[in-house]
Amino acid sequence: MSKILIINAGSSSIKWNLFSEKLNVEAKGVAQRIKMATGILSLDFKGQKEDIEMPLPTFLDTVKKLVSLWKERGIIADFSEIKQVAFRIVNGGPNLQSTSEVTEKTISYLKESLDLAPVHNPGALEAILAFREYLPKAKMTMHFDTSFHKTLPEIAYTYPINKKIASELNVRKYGFHGLNHHYIALKTAEILNKKSVNAVSLHIGNGASLCAIQDGKSIDTSMGFTPLAGIMMGTRSGDVDPSVIPYIMKHKNLTIDEAMKLLNEESGMLGVSQVSSDIRDIHKVRGENSQAQFAMNLYVTRIADYLITYLNKIEGKIDAIVFTAGIGENDDYVREQVINKIHLLNLKIDKTANENRNFKDYKLISTKESELPIFVIKAEEEMYIAKEASEFFKK
Ligand code: ADP
Repeated sequence: MSKILIINAGSSSIKWNLFSEKLNVEAKGVAQRIKMATGILSLDFKGQKEDIEMPLPTFLDTVKKLVSLWKERGIIADFSEIKQVAFRIVNGGPNLQSTSEVTEKTISYLKESLDLAPVHNPGALEAILAFREYLPKAKMTMHFDTSFHKTLPEIAYTYPINKKIASELNVRKYGFHGLNHHYIALKTAEILNKKSVNAVSLHIGNGASLCAIQDGKSIDTSMGFTPLAGIMMGTRSGDVDPSVIPYIMKHKNLTIDEAMKLLNEESGMLGVSQVSSDIRDIHKVRGENSQAQFAMNLYVTRIADYLITYLNKIEGKIDAIVFTAGIGENDDYVREQVINKIHLLNLKIDKTANENRNFKDYKLISTKESELPIFVIKAEEEMYIAKEASEFFKK
C-alpha cells in the first residue's frame, strides 16, 4: 500500500495527513504546542480521536515520537509504505519559487532562505532532515506558500523605499499562507456556485494573514517580505514602525538576531499579554487579567483595521468574508469582536451559528440582514499539497 504523507510544520505545530494513493485521508493529526511546557499529540485514525500530552521540546523530537506512534497504532505496518512526503514551505527564497523535489541542492537553497521565514523555515528544515533520516526511501517535495501571491500588482508588492536597493536585493512583499488563501478562494466559489469570487480571507492561526481576493486572485495580503508583517500574531508583532528596531537594539544592547527574535518569538499576543501565545490561555485569564484582555483588544483591532482596508480594495461586489485556520475556525469571540469593529458596513453575526462547533468543512455565521455573508471555512492546505505532490512525479 502506497501512501503520501503531507507535513505542514507551523511555528508551533506539525500538522500531518496520511493520504492513500487515491488521495483519501487515512489518518491525520497535529503535534501542538511544540517548544512550550506541555505538548499535545492529537491523532485521528479510523474514527478514533486521541490527545496525548507529552513534552515536545524540538521538531526533531516531535518527528521521532510521531513516527513511532504510527507504527504503534497500526497506522502503518512498515515505514516503506510511505512512498512520498510533501512539505509545506513558507518561503524558499529567490531560488525556490514553485514546487520542487527535496534534494541536496534544494535543501541548500532552503538553508539559504531561513531568514526569510525565521519562525517557520527552521522548523520545516528540521522536519525535512528528520523525515529523511526516518524515511530515506520516500520521494519528497516542497510546496510553497508564496505561489498564490504571484498575482499581486506592483502597487501592492512595492515598498516605498529606494528603488535601486529594492530591485538589487529583491526586497518586496511576497505574501504567505498562499496554499490556504488559494483553497479558500476556490472553496468559497464552490459554496456560492460561482466561477470565481471577490472575498477577504482571514487566515488566523498562530501565524496570521489576510488576503484580498479579486476574481479568484490575490491582489493584496498582509504579510510581506517575511511573515513578520501585518496583523498581530501569537508571538510575532506584525507591523511596527521600523525605527523601533534600532532604538531597542541601542538601548537594550541587542544584536540584530536578538532584536529579530524579540519581534518574531517574544512579541504579539505573548509579548503584550505577558501570559501566552496561545489564545486559549488568554481566554482562561482575561476575566481577571486586564493586560491579557488588553492584548485581546489590540489583537482584534489590528485584524479589523486590515479587514476594512481590504474590503475597500476590492473592486465590484464582494461575495464573502471568510475566517479560517486555528483561531479563525475555533474562536467565536475573536470573530464576533472583529466583525463588531467594522462600522462602515452593516455586518451581522448570527450568534448561534457563530458558536456552533459542530460543522463539517464550512458554516455561514452571518444573518440574512448582514450586508455581506460571513463564512468559517476549515483550512485545507493538505489536500492541495497532496494533489500537487501526486501530480509532481507523474509529469
Ligand atoms: P500555526 O499553523 O500557525 O501554528 P494554527 O492555525 O494551528 O497555527 O493555529 C494555532 C492557534 O489556534 C493557537 O493560538 C490556538 O490557541 C488556536 N486554537 C486551536 N484550537 C483552538 C480552539 N479549539 N479554540 C480556540 N483557539 C484554538
